[in-house]
Amino acid sequence: MPELKPALLSVPKDDMESWLAERGAPAYRHAQVIASVMHGAPSFDEMHELPRSLRAELDSAFRIRSLRPIANSEADRSLTTKTLYELDGGHTVEAVVMRYPDRSTLCISSQAGCPVGCPFCATGKFPFGRNLDAHEIEEQAVDAARLLAAEGRRLSHVVFMGMGEPFINYKAVIESVRRISDPERLAISPRRIVVSTSGVIPRIEQLREEKLPVTLAISLHAARDELRDVLVPINRKYPVRDLVQASQSYAKASGRRVSYEWVMLAGVNDTERDARELGVLLRRKLAHVNLIPFNPVDDTPYVAPSREGARRFRDLVAAQGLNVTVRDTRGREADAACGQLHERVMKSKEVVAVK
Ligand code: SAH
Ligand code: SF4
Repeated sequence: MPELKPALLSVPKDDMESWLAERGAPAYRHAQVIASVMHGAPSFDEMHELPRSLRAELDSAFRIRSLRPIANSEADRSLTTKTLYELDGGHTVEAVVMRYPDRSTLCISSQAGCPVGCPFCATGKFPFGRNLDAHEIEEQAVDAARLLAAEGRRLSHVVFMGMGEPFINYKAVIESVRRISDPERLAISPRRIVVSTSGVIPRIEQLREEKLPVTLAISLHAARDELRDVLVPINRKYPVRDLVQASQSYAKASGRRVSYEWVMLAGVNDTERDARELGVLLRRKLAHVNLIPFNPVDDTPYVAPSREGARRFRDLVAAQGLNVTVRDTRGREADAACGQLHERVMKSKEVVAVK
């Protein structure tokens, strides 16, 4: 394979500044180039504020982006759209944009595949591919911002709830959060960024020390080790009580409520006993419980609860004195939960051409 030019966003700022200086370009050109990329310039040639010769030099040295969109799907009358991207090396990841009246949220991927292997999750069923680099995570956000800007909308929130376990790719994820929130880049406040983890305790502790006020979401799904060992296998290494303790220490240090995610699996984790155990675990804590109706995945033994079943479980959890909501199942038809478009594309081996 011919060697690929480096993606522009993969080049450290200092190196890019030196590269520009070597070509006699003034220092402010760096900010101009980055601003053009952030605004979704499709090619260096479209960066009209740059001299033609510099545009040509940029084009011969760099690629404007590394992610290649290879498939799209949509749901909710186009309010939810999903893009599958091919990465350098051939792995694929997905990103989902959800449009609401008052906000637009991007669900982003941090790894191709996921080594945690939760049995209800489509992503966990594929062999792990690789970690994404910070610029590959940032590029998903830049592309979503471009898509939304063309509709007169602004990307306002980012959630790390696509493919992958962000805390098994900690360094790149934190770097991408810093970039996405950088006022000279996409300028999305860390408070509007949610990092969701299956519970890698040492990284939760590390995050506390970063003083980066992101919202932490913990994928709990079970309050007792015996069940959580099965549903979220990383629990065998980081048991649930220690996990809640580490998460609450983050809540205290950041002053931000932790969001506990709970995928409702009928008859498995939606019983009165589960609600009671959850109550014991989280009562009087700075916590919010987010119940997610299971989005069915082929070849798994799980089924989603009925609408009444979900309501009943929510009432049982509320009766424990906890803050609880049922998450909007936005994007269900677009297979918007974790890893599903990927699964369909992998199965059919068909690639939908993207304009
Ligand atoms: N690996 C991280 C983030 C990505 S998954 C984590 O597990 O937290 C984002 C959320 O989607 C998690 O809460 C996960 O449990 C949930 N999820 C995975 N598969 C799902 C499915 N089939 N239906 C509903 N939610 C699912
Ligand atoms: Fe990985 Fe999260 Fe899916 Fe579990 S739910 S396999 S941690 S992506």
